[in-house]
Amino acid sequence: MSIKICKFGGTSLASAANITRVKAILDSDKTRKYVVVSAPGKRFDDDIKITDMLYQCAKLSRESGKCGKLFDVIRDRFTEIVNNLQVDIDIKSILDETEKAIDEIKTDDFAASRGEYLNGRIIAKYLGFEFVDACEIVKFGENGILDSDSTNDIMEKKLAKIQYAVIPGFYGAMPFDHVKTFSRGGSDITGSLVARGVKATMYENWTDVNGFYAADPRIIANPLQIECLGYHELRELSYMGASVLHSEAIFPVQDSRIPINIKNTFEPENPGTMIVPDEEYKGNGHTVTGIAGKKNFTVISIEKSNMNAEIGFARKILSVLERYGIPLEHMPSGIDTLSIVISSDTLKNGLKDKVILRIREAVNPDKVTVIDSVATVATVGHGMCKVKGTAGRLFTALSRSNVNILLIDQGSSEKNIIVGVKNEDYERALKSIYLEFLAHHENRFKV
Ligand code: ASP
Repeated sequence: MSIKICKFGGTSLASAANITRVKAILDSDKTRKYVVVSAPGKRFDDDIKITDMLYQCAKLSRESGKCGKLFDVIRDRFTEIVNNLQVDIDIKSILDETEKAIDEIKTDDFAASRGEYLNGRIIAKYLGFEFVDACEIVKFGENGILDSDSTNDIMEKKLAKIQYAVIPGFYGAMPFDHVKTFSRGGSDITGSLVARGVKATMYENWTDVNGFYAADPRIIANPLQIECLGYHELRELSYMGASVLHSEAIFPVQDSRIPINIKNTFEPENPGTMIVPDEEYKGNGHTVTGIAGKKNFTVISIEKSNMNAEIGFARKILSVLERYGIPLEHMPSGIDTLSIVISSDTLKNGLKDKVILRIREAVNPDKVTVIDSVATVATVGHGMCKVKGTAGRLFTALSRSNVNILLIDQGSSEKNIIVGVKNEDYERALKSIYLEFLAHHENRFKV
């Protein structure tokens, strides 16, 4: 029996008109049984997402006791949605309770979660589906980390009894019912957890674009739409900056091998991008599937003669990062050099100097070099490992465009080559790689 999970993003649910489209999508296929919703997003470019306003509300409640006027803006948005959809729900009382709770609880997580909660209640009523609060079925441990196993057990039992349900995305509960959110964009993870929990045949992730593109459309005009991706490629692309799907959304579905279909709420007939288990993925006939990247990294290179002979050299460096809770992004190494690539955001407020000092103390290096404002660009492709000369073409393309490569990192999976370039060369690097590998392929679905 086919069971589809549909997660709808903020733009898809930004207004009553958009929610009407969502209903038509659900009505057209009765196997679309479980719906995960985001908070209302932007209706136009300068609009403000409900979630962003809710974070501000929490701040106001902490600073001055009340979120007051700002909450009125949120109140108006939800009231307008309810009125335009003509939903029979006492939204005034629900909003009053919510405002009171935000002012009492004052945490970012609780306030931010209310966008999904309120939208979920309204949409459930509008669709005639049961509302299931995410706190009942998404569980975090005391450490704030998702408790994947108990979430799955609870979700399986609870949802087995419900035929059609709406579940708010983005949050769940810690012990003692403290509300905890995932990181931004986390409703994608909720969708994935629900898909696993009900053993779905498909996880449809409905958004405002036609799927993954082979490169960022803000940099490459009319890029190729990716028809099919393997789980592994998805993880590489989304982690490296392709922002269509949360980079952690793959984990719950990958063991159950549930395919994910990225679809466009505003163009539902477009097939979108299909993401399938690696074993079932035949590739898409291209050497390179996509290119993604991010700016603003710091590279710390540590040089020491005969470093390779020193047992525990890397561990000592990594334990400095661990001590300060700094995540490591990449770690390319040479014979007597080891570089660590870290997001510059995590080295603010004097932390960079402290880290360097501790590294000096830990390994007594000959030289430490620091480069800021570095961008990383990942060229990802399932087919890359089978094709000789891919790296050669990549580096030649970059040199032709006069881009200086600061570092190179190629994972042993050979599905990904990452280069570090200066921030200011980022766009040029991306364009030159796109031109080399992808520009000549036919775009089957016009963007
Ligand atoms: N509303 C949350 C955000 O803006 C979560 C989500 O949409 O996935 O990040």
